[in-house]
Amino acid sequence: MGSIAVCPGSFDPVTLGHLDIITRGSKIFDKVIVSVLNNRSKNPLFSVEERIELLKETTNHLPNVEVDHFDGLLIDYVKKKQANAIIKGLRAVSDFEYELQMASINRKLDEEVETFFMMTNNHYSYLSSSIVKELAKYEASVNDLVPPAVEKALRNKNRM
Ligand code: ADP
Repeated sequence: MGSIAVCPGSFDPVTLGHLDIITRGSKIFDKVIVSVLNNRSKNPLFSVEERIELLKETTNHLPNVEVDHFDGLLIDYVKKKQANAIIKGLRAVSDFEYELQMASINRKLDEEVETFFMMTNNHYSYLSSSIVKELAKYEASVNDLVPPAVEKALRNKNRM
């Protein structure tokens, strides 16, 4: 069996920071499944379908990257996909505590699944979907933070 990694997240919307992690992950693993968490407790700007569409559009040049969505426990989803790894990006120390907790719980639930952390590219250490949404709301430029398809989608949302 080849190495299959799940890269989970809200991706509301996908940013250049996410794409950097996905691209680097796709060079290490045979297959990367980018999976949108259908998190009902958050109040998303983009629907799961829209987030999937934007991810597909911006990763279609990466042949070993697949886009999907999931509900419920990440570890159950990882097993269902027969994956053996989880990829997460780390931006700052503030990400660390939460991610350590999640990785520890996931290890307890299934020892066979390993979590891999990738340090953010320095250019994107401050970048999050929330910052992008905040900037777009006030019509500030986000063209060096997100792919063109996302920039366009944000503009369309603003018009609604
Ligand atoms: P957020 O809403 O905080 O931007 P997501 O839940 O969509 O994040 O994030 C999915 C994954 O991508 C997480 O592992 C997160 O740490 C990582 N990530 C998000 N933005 C960046 C970035 N700028 N650099 C590196 N990793 C990132």
